[in-house]
Amino acid sequence: MKLLDTSQVSTKSLTKAAQQLWVLLEPELSYLESTDKEVVELAFWQMAEAHGEQRRKSGEFYITHPVTACHLLASIKLDRDCLAGALLHDVPEDTDVTLRDLQKTFSKDIVFLISGITKLSVIKYKGEDRYAENLRRMFVAIGRDLRVIFIKLADRIHNLSTLNALPPEKAKRIAMESMEIYAPIAERLGIGIFKDAIEELCFPYVYPDEYRHLISLSSVEYRRREKHSERMITKVTSCLDNTDGHYIKIYGRAKKYYSLYKKLQEKNSLDKIYDLVAIRIITTSVEDCYEVLSVLHRNFEQLDGRVKDYIATPKSNGYQSIHTTLLDSHSNIVFEAQIRTEAMHEFAEYGVAAHWSYKQGTQFQDFSFLDPERLKWIRDLIDLGKEQLTEEEYLKYVKLDLFQDRIFVMTPKGDAIDLPIGATALDFAFRIHVHIGAQAVRARVNDQVQKISHELQNGDVVYIETDKNQKPRRNWLQIVKTRQAARTIRALLRKQGIVV
Ligand code: MN
Repeated sequence: MKLLDTSQVSTKSLTKAAQQLWVLLEPELSYLESTDKEVVELAFWQMAEAHGEQRRKSGEFYITHPVTACHLLASIKLDRDCLAGALLHDVPEDTDVTLRDLQKTFSKDIVFLISGITKLSVIKYKGEDRYAENLRRMFVAIGRDLRVIFIKLADRIHNLSTLNALPPEKAKRIAMESMEIYAPIAERLGIGIFKDAIEELCFPYVYPDEYRHLISLSSVEYRRREKHSERMITKVTSCLDNTDGHYIKIYGRAKKYYSLYKKLQEKNSLDKIYDLVAIRIITTSVEDCYEVLSVLHRNFEQLDGRVKDYIATPKSNGYQSIHTTLLDSHSNIVFEAQIRTEAMHEFAEYGVAAHWSYKQGTQFQDFSFLDPERLKWIRDLIDLGKEQLTEEEYLKYVKLDLFQDRIFVMTPKGDAIDLPIGATALDFAFRIHVHIGAQAVRARVNDQVQKISHELQNGDVVYIETDKNQKPRRNWLQIVKTRQAARTIRALLRKQGIVV
């Protein structure tokens, strides 16, 4: 992901800077219909007028910031409203132009997007309170229009790229908060390019020593693996060309530093990280993916148990691909191959954002990802904002909620229910209905009888057996993992006169 290079933009004349920025931005807008482009252009000049001579800490004119954010969204071909919203996102907060003023020129949708990320005024709220309150408001806005988060992420990514202009302590705090809140949101939404960008930009600030250590440790190894990967790309290409393995594109991809850092904590040694440089093979159809896989397994030795078929079982954020670890017995090179269709690849990079993108081929995408159930975590975050919590507690729970990995469990009718990892059949029961939860006696998980304390796995099909004589017990509070179930159980126990 490349950010707009604004280093040549004038820092002396605002008029010149604005013209230069428009020249940089305009070619990226060629995918828009001309009437949509006019709206974006109008937003651009109104924004430039509103911010005027304001400057960033780096000394650049302030307008470079919204333009870079807009450019980032244009690079993934997001729609007119997102682009106009990105351009105007700091106008109500930082200039004399109000949301009401913007309403005169721009559509309700655009103004809503801007209001969704406009922070509360500094005068009304002071200090940390404002931070939690802004976050609360942002989640509510995202619940109404998901596009709010795309603008927020683009805003954040540009701010992270200029952290060096801030005092170290402040830079670290912002990087930390981004790592804890914004990277997981991007991941949840499947927007791989944004998630990677945030983590890569934050890593040196959040873990400076580890970062330096990792760079020195891995630079030689990266170069070595890159050479290996080039050799393997040649070999894989000729294997596929000689058979029916149809593909569109083969290339090497290097693992991002932060993702390597996380993996190293698990594996302890670079030698065991086979996907440091992986080979990616893009095909047109799912059948071709499996065909390519079988060609690879005929020509290379497959390392035991190393095929991960995320096409058959997608990750909970919708990611699909086949990963297989292979050994080339001639050269003794071990490498990972990742096979996916073009549509899967696009989804891995843009996630839900692909839904609003003008990109070709998006009509083949599976948008079940946008099912309300799959986005329930956003509802949960909105509900969390309504609870009586201290600011500190609220932030703690937001981070916890976002960090917790989710699983998807099915009802017998095939509805997907989104639960945190570690959730039990009883959590599931309370998610279906309070009566099902209260009267649950047993669960049938994939047609096997299980206790209600049984821990569920991704993809399980769950049916809850109930009995009207059943009553919630105090020890149920130890069985459930979700706050929603615990709250309901506590209320039911109190109703029975049991003190909790
Ligand atoms: Mn901003």
